Amino acid sequence: MLKIYNTLSKQKEEFKPINPPNVNMYVCGPTVYDYFHIGNARSFISSDIIRRYLEYMGYKVKFVMNLTDVDDKIIKKSNEEKIDSKIIAEKYINAFFEDVEKLKMKKADIYPKATEHMDDIIEMIKELEQKGFAYNVDGNVFYDVGKFKEYGKLSGKKIDELESGSRVEVNVEKKNPLDFALWKKAKEGEPYWESPWGNGRPGWHIECSAMSCKHLGVPPNGGIDIHAGGNDLIFPHHENEIAQSEAANGKKFVNYWIHFGFLNLDNEKMSKSLGNFFTARDVLKKYSAEAIRLLFAQTNYGGPLNFSDELLSSAEKGLEKINNLAQKIEDEIKTNSKESINPDFDFQKYENEFTRVMDDDFNTPQGVAVIFDFVKEVNRTISENENINVKFYKNAKSFLEKTAEGILGILDFDNLSKTSDGKLEGDLIEFLIQLRTDAKKEKNYTLADKIRSELNKLGVVLEDSKEKTTYKITRTKNQAAN
Ligand code: AMP
Ligand code: ZN
Repeated sequence: MLKIYNTLSKQKEEFKPINPPNVNMYVCGPTVYDYFHIGNARSFISSDIIRRYLEYMGYKVKFVMNLTDVDDKIIKKSNEEKIDSKIIAEKYINAFFEDVEKLKMKKADIYPKATEHMDDIIEMIKELEQKGFAYNVDGNVFYDVGKFKEYGKLSGKKIDELESGSRVEVNVEKKNPLDFALWKKAKEGEPYWESPWGNGRPGWHIECSAMSCKHLGVPPNGGIDIHAGGNDLIFPHHENEIAQSEAANGKKFVNYWIHFGFLNLDNEKMSKSLGNFFTARDVLKKYSAEAIRLLFAQTNYGGPLNFSDELLSSAEKGLEKINNLAQKIEDEIKTNSKESINPDFDFQKYENEFTRVMDDDFNTPQGVAVIFDFVKEVNRTISENENINVKFYKNAKSFLEKTAEGILGILDFDNLSKTSDGKLEGDLIEFLIQLRTDAKKEKNYTLADKIRSELNKLGVVLEDSKEKTTYKITRTKNQAAN
């Protein structure tokens, strides 16, 4: 029985979908004004693992992730760079899909874009206005927070407390500082759409309410089983989504709210605005998608995780153990024609154990532990038995395919040699760096410079600091192949 920690009730609850075996899942996606960072990737990958586990359990998951393609940040970038905001959004949407693929995430069933849902958004605002939850001040439409009696039920915040300690910007047009914009009146130089309130654009929160409702419906025929996003979205984004959707539809909006802990750098949230971030694509130049995914899976999705090179290197090392066994399995399946022993090995026990821990609120750290335990025991069995037949290897492959590959995405049977190539490449670069450091110590600067410039020609740029030399690969694998 699957239990999920629900931010709404602040406890683990048995998972009961609205219309089994269907499960409707909505995840707040990126604002497309830049490449996404590895902190965003943590939230996206965590939702990918949850979706894959639900599918493994036999649910038919409809997975929707929105793309925020109209927003202050996009408009700001568009003005700074003097490029149309549509072109900016398009560029980063394409980059987003490339990174999603590189991180081995399953594609969503639908990636709705705000700009393509203006009618749905306007309809929902009209509904809110008719029901008395919204008011128009000269072309700016606001949500009247005071009208929604349950405001604060997700974040646990109380309206009065929020008002007094509020850091929400004071806006003379609003009745209450907590009221938020549903529709923003067009300003000079900004993209706009026509609406009953004049030209303007939607607020961020209403986009998610309108698009999730449009694609996943409302109970009893539809509805959202799971809605997920990073911890920073609990308030105000998700609180506001509840207020809007429940006021407009008169139905419970979401049954299970799942929130992902922050990826931190030196214990501070990785974020674009603080400038303490690495893009996912840069991290992928040095580490495999599998290592990144393993690093994330080793911590509970809800807790904080401090990001470091050391952790990723050790994840990469951990993967070697799984990959070596996977390679052995592949080799044996290809060549082994032994009719002899099928050692006594309880494969089912490991799968049962894996699902038992994952059923407890997707406990991936324990799931990973089960996989490593499995690898150890299979290796031991192989070393203790000489004539193992192919059936054993097929069973072992089946377990790893379902769990490590299918659910966690930390193994890729079709790309085993490629993963190890990447590793070999990294090891060879490290070896050349060491050789150069030795050469410098011996004052052999000709050799040291030669190593640097030859690596440079190959697209490997060395960066010296006091303590050590690091490297960056500046061209992609595709370019290297050309
Ligand atoms: P954004 O593009 O900023 O709207 O973020 C997209 C998703 O990434 C949202 O679900 C955020 O909550 C999530 N996110 C942003 N920063 C982090 C972080 N440092 N760690 C984990 N998730 C994050
Ligand atoms: Zn959202």
